[in-house]
Amino acid sequence: MNVVAIDFETANERRDSACAVGLAWIEGGRVVRRESRLIRPPQMRFSPGNIRIHGILPADVRDAPTFPEAMAPFLPDLAGGLVLAHNAGFDMGVLAASLGAYGEPVPTLTGHCTLQIARRIFPDPAGCGLSKVAGRLGIRFEHHDAGEDAFACAEIALAAVRETGARDVPDLVRGLGLTPIRAINAPRRDLVRSTSARALRVAGVTPPVAAADLRFSLRGSTGNRYVVVFEESAGGPYLRCSCPAGTHRRRCRHVDALVDGDITDLISNNPEDVERLRLRIGDATVGPVRIKGAAAA
Ligand SMILES: [Zn+2]
Repeated sequence: MNVVAIDFETANERRDSACAVGLAWIEGGRVVRRESRLIRPPQMRFSPGNIRIHGILPADVRDAPTFPEAMAPFLPDLAGGLVLAHNAGFDMGVLAASLGAYGEPVPTLTGHCTLQIARRIFPDPAGCGLSKVAGRLGIRFEHHDAGEDAFACAEIALAAVRETGARDVPDLVRGLGLTPIRAINAPRRDLVRSTSARALRVAGVTPPVAAADLRFSLRGSTGNRYVVVFEESAGGPYLRCSCPAGTHRRRCRHVDALVDGDITDLISNNPEDVERLRLRIGDATVGPVRIKGAAAA
């Protein structure tokens, strides 16, 4: 079974706007091959927040291959393989939406998330964002270059294999009992957005998102549904969760997940808004999101 780590960068908040891909193949306990490609997204609309993260400009990808062209050499390795990504819900979503945008089928693959793996094997109060985990494990890489991010993701999985004494990555995910993450084409939520937002989008302008629009439903560990709402309060950005911890004004795992961009338990159909939230609160993940009344410790 091929084991490949993958990372996508996107031009804007849409899942089908991939502008770069990085891949890292794992074999015999090490990374044996690395590739990265620029991709020309179907619409040349780049959001400033996304450019700030990855530094890719429209001019960089104007002559780049389309998503199906760029991915064609790699899809056979992904099909039937174990595909790792750090926050795999995002990358599996990009893969599915981008192939879907061109009417291409999505290969059957087993997706697994190194963010989930890191939370289990290398938990830390500072969080398990890619750069945080990689930093703690001494993995040197250039964050937000797709090829480098895929490499770091692969190295995190390999570190977890060594830490747990698993035979290999498939043995690791089996041992952890992780649920595979699927790459499926979700209904396109942007088709039901307001006409004014669509008009702005057509004009090539990213519509401003009111804080009150950032609202998420998440599945709790006991199956309950919780609602997290983003607010701009006088004390700074605030994520209010309806779960028991949240109503006691404590930081909860639902807020942690959204801050990390982890959409594993997202049941509202708005992964693009998780990306908007992530861009709004910046790249420093957990730090800048102040939770009202949270203990200082
Ligand atoms: Zn909560």
